[in-house]
Amino acid sequence: MTYLDANATTPPDPEVVRTMLPWLTEHYGNPSASHAAGRESKRALEKARRQVATMIGATAEEIVFTSGATESINSVILFAQSEWPERPLLIISAVEHAAVIESAGRWEALGGRVKRVPVDNHGIVKLEAMQSALEPGRTALVSIIWANNETGVISPMAEIVAMAHASGAPVHADAVQMVGKLPVDIGAVPLDYLSLSAHKMHGVKGCGALFVSRRAPFHPLLIGGGQESGRRSGTENLPGIVAMGKAAELAQNDYACDLAALRDGFELRLSAGWPDAVIHGSQAPRLPNTTSICLPGVDAAALLILLDQRGIACSGGSACHATSLHPSHVLASMGYPASHAASTLRFSFSRMNTRDEVSAAAEEVIRSARHILDQRDTLGSPVEFA
Ligand code: PLP
Repeated sequence: MTYLDANATTPPDPEVVRTMLPWLTEHYGNPSASHAAGRESKRALEKARRQVATMIGATAEEIVFTSGATESINSVILFAQSEWPERPLLIISAVEHAAVIESAGRWEALGGRVKRVPVDNHGIVKLEAMQSALEPGRTALVSIIWANNETGVISPMAEIVAMAHASGAPVHADAVQMVGKLPVDIGAVPLDYLSLSAHKMHGVKGCGALFVSRRAPFHPLLIGGGQESGRRSGTENLPGIVAMGKAAELAQNDYACDLAALRDGFELRLSAGWPDAVIHGSQAPRLPNTTSICLPGVDAAALLILLDQRGIACSGGSACHATSLHPSHVLASMGYPASHAASTLRFSFSRMNTRDEVSAAAEEVIRSARHILDQRDTLGSPVEFA
């Protein structure tokens, strides 16, 4: 299989798995226990916390381990609503992940107001619209996706933080796709909250973190035994956390790895074979690993199945929407019609991919797309796959 779906999940790094394994077998002490086995686990937990903190330029005390970004996002948005009832407004962008969209829906259901800041046709959050959305003294939280999971387009986060802080509003970044692909430095972009997920950065599933700035208040969503300094109760997923720490350390060394060269080579080949292909957000600052591409006239759902049969794993949009028939809200927000979204595939690369497999995959995509068009033209009916 050629795996080109890193934005859905990344393959765990073998070194990450090696580091994690003893914490599934011989080291099983509960980090809250006071005996030697517990203390050993506690040391591993705190090491991982330092590793994750270092990756984003934070301090260890600012990292709360969670079950993943969905929990981190839910926690911070629910917290903001209960902490500042006198500030009814939540501001998000039009291109958020479902974890934020659904949290915003609940915000409204609980009586709050939500403003959704539009993006331009490159997929970039409109700063003038952000400025006019902010209501000083009335905004509880601004929550913006840092790098988009479908297009890879990067939000102007430093500017958003400056604007929001000037009006007194704290900012949360959904940094799930950003972290591990490009360097993140909280010192340079002074966010209040940031969510991340281990399995998007070559760690394992079921583990994530919430950064809470030492300047920002926070109350937990999960209460009970008071783990994570009272900020997230529940016995920690130590193997997952140790793995996340290692993944964070490896990501540090990994930014030099030329993901953009893989992506650019892929896009070049695809565009040569399909001259009217449209690459979304190609004029915007983008993640180096993500290509969202429309092959006009080609049924992306059929192409996805055919590519799967031919050993290529990619995605029709966000993996979380894989079973949904709704056209991508991200592409709609960028001004593309539903028919365009229906011809769009997402390919996302990681350091585990090689140039050779990526260029072979580009040729296969072209061959498969032509096959689908030929079948449609000759039969006028749905494609049959061998
Ligand atoms: N935010 C973004 C941008 C994502 O891409 C994802 C996962 O696809 C999430 C949040 C949720 O992460 P998880 O499913 O690991 O909780």
